[in-house]
Amino acid sequence: RVKEEGKNSFQFYTPDMNEAITKKMQLENALRKGLERQEFTVYYQPQVDVRTGRVIGIEALIRWRHPELGDLQPDDFIPLAEETGLIVPIGKWVLVEACRQNRLWQSMGFQPVRVAVNISSRQFQQSHFVEHVRRTLEETGLDPKYLELELTESIIQDSKYAISTMRKLKDMGVHLSIDDFGTGYSSLSYLKLFPIDSLKIDKSFTQNILADAKDTALVQTIIKIAHYLDLNVIAEGVETREQLQFLQQKLCDEAQGFFFSRPISVEEMSTVFREQLWVSINAEKHSG
Ligand code: C2E
Ligand code: MG
Ligand code: MG
Ligand code: MG
Repeated sequence: RVKEEGKNSFQFYTPDMNEAITKKMQLENALRKGLERQEFTVYYQPQVDVRTGRVIGIEALIRWRHPELGDLQPDDFIPLAEETGLIVPIGKWVLVEACRQNRLWQSMGFQPVRVAVNISSRQFQQSHFVEHVRRTLEETGLDPKYLELELTESIIQDSKYAISTMRKLKDMGVHLSIDDFGTGYSSLSYLKLFPIDSLKIDKSFTQNILADAKDTALVQTIIKIAHYLDLNVIAEGVETREQLQFLQQKLCDEAQGFFFSRPISVEEMSTVFREQLWVSINAEKHSG
């Protein structure tokens, strides 16, 4: 490769590159088949109200059980799904699944929570995106106020389009949040323009709030900015009690992270809801 330079500068393809391309094509094929064969599942991670400790939301996170490759994490396949456009059908499936499951939990009598679904920019930019959200809510019977869409700063590339799409979603009653807040390259001015409900502090900040004075300052500032703008703020990646205590002191609204729970299966999430229901029934009995 490098040593060939000069002698044959038109050698674009090398054995290594071929191998990489082949691997990518295999994964792409596996992704398509995975959709057909229903190899994807959704895990849920609790989002907790830091004042009461109650689960008030859950985030839907995709998992892939491949028959040969085993369990794959989003970071292993979401980037390729975005590149190939397969994120559109995959994302559609996650949205339907998360709404259906959340509605099912509500019909089982559990305390209603909001389900947050990650939306890739590519999916958000589909011309039928708003219609798809509307239809999904109608077909699953989920009240729009129990759906949150997590968007990233990258949608700001086309801010006119983004604002009008967000407005339509807001008018429907759906909640909107900015995920991984502070890690993109966007300017703060979009906070003023975008009709959003909450900011999610990226876990790279949360994880260092007690170790790095700059992250401490950043997290405090993000919480203040959010509150000045009347936005809800949730910290992602909370792993320790000390981090939680810091966030409580700084009046962060919600927290999500391994300290409370890893992303868990539908069955495990049902258990969490069931336990929470018992706690609240007992609390009512004792107060009344
Ligand atoms: P995200 O939306 O920022 O999701 C949070 C990620 O942080 C999840 O990783 C979660 O498991 C992890 N996490 C939560 N709490 C902690 C913690 O305390 N410590 C640490 N170290 N990690 C924590 P996951 O499930 O691997 O997902 C990675 C990313 O993949 C997500 O980041 C999201 O951007 C993307 N993703 C996941 N599911 C979907 C989906 O259905 N659609 C799209 N478009 N993207 C998805
Ligand atoms: Mg997210
Ligand atoms: Mg993300
Ligand atoms: Mg995030």
